[in-house]
Formats: sequence, structure tokens, C-alpha cells
Amino acid sequence: MDEPQRRECDTSDICLHRSIDGDWLPLLRKKRKMTLAPHPYCGKCGLVRNVGPDRPKKIGFYVDKLSELERYLENEDSKGGKNKLTEAQKRLIVKEMEDQEVFIDLYGVMASTQKEKFIDIVRKYRPDIEEKVIEYHLG
Ligand SMILES: [Zn+2]
Repeated sequence: MDEPQRRECDTSDICLHRSIDGDWLPLLRKKRKMTLAPHPYCGKCGLVRNVGPDRPKKIGFYVDKLSELERYLENEDSKGGKNKLTEAQKRLIVKEMEDQEVFIDLYGVMASTQKEKFIDIVRKYRPDIEEKVIEYHLG
């Protein structure tokens, strides 16, 4: 077995995830096995619960971070640097996060995965914002 089964829940039938105290499974981080841990998993969809240190955050956390980024860009704009974030851009970024399972169904998600996705989404609408700037604001 290469990695624990991580079947996607069908979004039309949202899985409420009923944990079964499970087997000792390797904690995975980007396909690299870290350590063994007793890992609960969902008995309905098979998703392994993230009980590691890299815990996911609720979508509100990322909306707050987007507001911080917005203030930073406003300041940049007033200095003649980067343009500020428009309302439309902000709306599109939030909308796209709401459509991403990693921000909605936190059961098996790692914060680092959310972080990468957040950076991808922001840069999709604002490719001029460097990755390290976004990372900085994520803290
Ligand atoms: Zn499930």
C-alpha cells in the first residue's frame, strides 16, 4: 500500500464523516512518510482524518488574511506601488475559496495544502503579488 486511501467525498452527497478509531497509519506530508500515528478515519468515505500538527483553518481565517493583504495593497497603491485589490477581485477570490473542498471540508486537510491553494487562487487574479508576500501575510 503506497498511501492511505483518500477517496474524495461526492460533493452532491456531502459526507458528514464518522470517525473510526483506526489503524496506525503513516502521517503523510506531500507523499513523504513522516511518522506512524493512530489515525482515525471516516468509516463512510475512507478519508483519513488529519490529527497532525498541521491543522487546517476555517475559511474565515483566510478571508481575514485576504483583508490584511487588501490593507497592504491599499498602502502600496498610495505609495505608487502595486494596485489595490478591487472589490471584484476580492469577491472572486472568496467565491473560489468557497468552491474549494480544502476550505470547506476540513476533515482530512492540512494547513499547508490550504496555504498553497490560497496562494494559487490569489495569484490567479493577482499574478503581480509575489508568493512570499502572500506567505508573509499568512503568518
Ligand atoms: Zn467521510
